[in-house]
Amino acid sequence: MARVPVKLVSWDEIVEWSRGLARKIEESSWIPDLVVAVSRGGFVPARLICDFMDINDLLAVQSQHWVEAALAAERAILKYPYIVDVKDKKILVVDDIVDTGDTLELAKTFIEREWKPSEVKTAALQWISSVAKFRPDYYYIEVKDWTWFQYPWTRLEDVSQFIMRIFREDDRVKGRSIDEAYLKDLFKEWFGVEPGQFGFYWSEALNRLVIKGFLTKEDGLYRCIKCGSR
Ligand code: AMP
Repeated sequence: MARVPVKLVSWDEIVEWSRGLARKIEESSWIPDLVVAVSRGGFVPARLICDFMDINDLLAVQSQHWVEAALAAERAILKYPYIVDVKDKKILVVDDIVDTGDTLELAKTFIEREWKPSEVKTAALQWISSVAKFRPDYYYIEVKDWTWFQYPWTRLEDVSQFIMRIFREDDRVKGRSIDEAYLKDLFKEWFGVEPGQFGFYWSEALNRLVIKGFLTKEDGLYRCIKCGSR
């Protein structure tokens, strides 16, 4: 069993899920005037929902997870809390997935309080019902067993972070130089997916980590030089 269960999501699945989500919203006979994407994960689903529901107006609010220094606990904050005049409008706030639910709940609360529209509803492609403290008004897939969904718009970021996680947390690698074949074996063991499934993203991620100074590559061996701090 993989240490971190990962499911690779294809662009085709994203289109299918967004279409299914748009249908569910339409079937409820509730049509928003304006869609707000929760940046960055909600961008693509929100844009596709606009297409499938024939909605012209699309805005975004950006949330980010913030590590509070003293508490070492993460909480979501809105990065650019701008105010717009949308009173009398029905707003659909869209994200990719509701995991803890912090992000979507924060966006919804902010929009209700500061923008004061006539109504706000929430939608996500996926809802992890076993962990989320917030259930979106609309979702396409209910996930029961926690999984990391590797969406196509974060391939490079995720593969890079997965690789760094191995270097930082796997005792077999700490302080050692390893070749790519061994790294691939560890990747499969950790995340349950073959690096080959990521196509060019695999080598792109390794190159990026070397360029950014997280890894060194000498004589075909990779070594982490920023693994002291988490
Ligand atoms: P949340 O924990 O619900 O506040 O999630 C914040 C954001 O992190 C989501 O909108 C996703 O972009 C990303 N995220 C959280 N959990 C997952 C997951 N299990 N799979 C993929 N992306 C995730």
